[in-house]
Amino acid sequence: MREATVGDYISLSEINESMEEAATTMFLNSVCGENSLEWTADDRRFALLWYYVHTERDHFYRIEYECSCGQTHSVAIDLMDVLDAYRPIDGKAERSIVVRGDKYVVVPFSGSSAEALELERIGIQALESEHGADSPEAGKARLQMRLNEVIYRIQGEGLEERIPTMSIGYAKELIDSVEKATDEMAHGLDTKYLAGEVFLLSPPLKCDKEVVTRCRVRFRNYDFIPQL
Ligand SMILES: [Zn+2]
Repeated sequence: MREATVGDYISLSEINESMEEAATTMFLNSVCGENSLEWTADDRRFALLWYYVHTERDHFYRIEYECSCGQTHSVAIDLMDVLDAYRPIDGKAERSIVVRGDKYVVVPFSGSSAEALELERIGIQALESEHGADSPEAGKARLQMRLNEVIYRIQGEGLEERIPTMSIGYAKELIDSVEKATDEMAHGLDTKYLAGEVFLLSPPLKCDKEVVTRCRVRFRNYDFIPQL
């Protein structure tokens, strides 16, 4: 990795603020000299946080949470501890699965998938505010995104055309197998993917009432792209 330049920040400022994955691609490609679209989405987040922790003087991240003791606490998470929770992938970044005799190869979300899913999430939000969350337009887009979450994790072509012809039972088996294979390949930071958003699981936080909490914090890539 090299240090980011002023030119990098000028390029970054040209990217729409809601497009965090696109900004991440630009940033990582610049400082790493590689095509981070081909990395796994988890490896990208790890690289982003690693760079941030090693270049910024302050590597604490403040969060507020409602504790089961009844109080709201404000704590600063040491991002070094978050980095320490990194775990490498178990074996190769692919798993073979068989659904009713058909073979598939499952891979983790890539940087390209992360960018595509982010655009879909932005599109869904726009449809929800224009037509309402219960509108057919928003519902259709949400379903398409759920299908794409499967398509992006299976290697090979033609799945997009094949999915509509699958029986519901077959599709459910396929989705279950893809989820299971994805869990087996869990790697990187301690995170959870939910409908186009990624949440970071905090280290255990103990309050003065001795209540231990692990918070789920939305992982905003922009928070970890160092600012000029
Ligand atoms: Zn508490």
